[in-house]
Amino acid sequence: MFFYFIYYRQIGQACSLYKNMQKKDIRQVYSLKKYGSKERFGADVENARNFQKELDKLLEQQEKNQENGKRLFLHSCCAPCSSYVLEYLRKYFRITVFYYNPNISFANEYKRRAAEQKRLIEAYNRQGIGYPIEVLEGDYEPEQFYQTAKGLEDCPEGGERCFLCYELRLRKTAELAQKGNYDYFATTLTISPLKNAKKLNEIGERLSQEYHVNWLVSDFKKKNGYKRSIELSAEYDLYRQDYCGCVYSKQEREKQKAERKNEA
Ligand code: SF4
Repeated sequence: MFFYFIYYRQIGQACSLYKNMQKKDIRQVYSLKKYGSKERFGADVENARNFQKELDKLLEQQEKNQENGKRLFLHSCCAPCSSYVLEYLRKYFRITVFYYNPNISFANEYKRRAAEQKRLIEAYNRQGIGYPIEVLEGDYEPEQFYQTAKGLEDCPEGGERCFLCYELRLRKTAELAQKGNYDYFATTLTISPLKNAKKLNEIGERLSQEYHVNWLVSDFKKKNGYKRSIELSAEYDLYRQDYCGCVYSKQEREKQKAERKNEA
């Protein structure tokens, strides 16, 4: 889902504008909810959370306490994004990959990504490294996505529509993780340079409170995770889509391609 990153040069300015807006939004939330003053928030900016370090610490502690093998319910958007995450986490957790993506347009694209997801897991399991990986394909329910995105169809990728799209998928993941008595739930989405890791972790932590399942913090793009996923995708010859998933992101990509063609 993140391999269309290279297409983004042309909208770099829009991205930085959006990032600035997000920072402003985060500042407001922190200053009001956590500290009650903007001055105190200043200290928080300097001490911004490093999700990768938090994960490193948790895994180190788990290993030290000989507690590897806990059960992780891992939402996955596609095989390429999950390739590095599974390679990284399979020695620490018994993972069930949950492929649940009602955002994907259209059904044939959804099925193609699902098939690649399963093919990768079969290949990993044949290697016998770490714990065996299970996979669960969720229902394809695009109507859930369209209902969620209603009124936000024209929102640029990376905006409010995406936050709701993250939550739609993570809520279902948390719900099933609770039903299945998993120790943790998480998502592969943080590997993408185009996904907002802060927002994803914020949503995950909120749902963790709601469903009483631990959220595994992550920022999988760190430690060269994104780069490694590109290598693994080539190694396993994985299908790599050039748009995020929904029909709006597909239209956005097609427009960019047409603009580039006209410029050439
Ligand atoms: S671009 Fe579409 S599919 Fe991708 S996260 Fe945003 S809403 Fe979801």
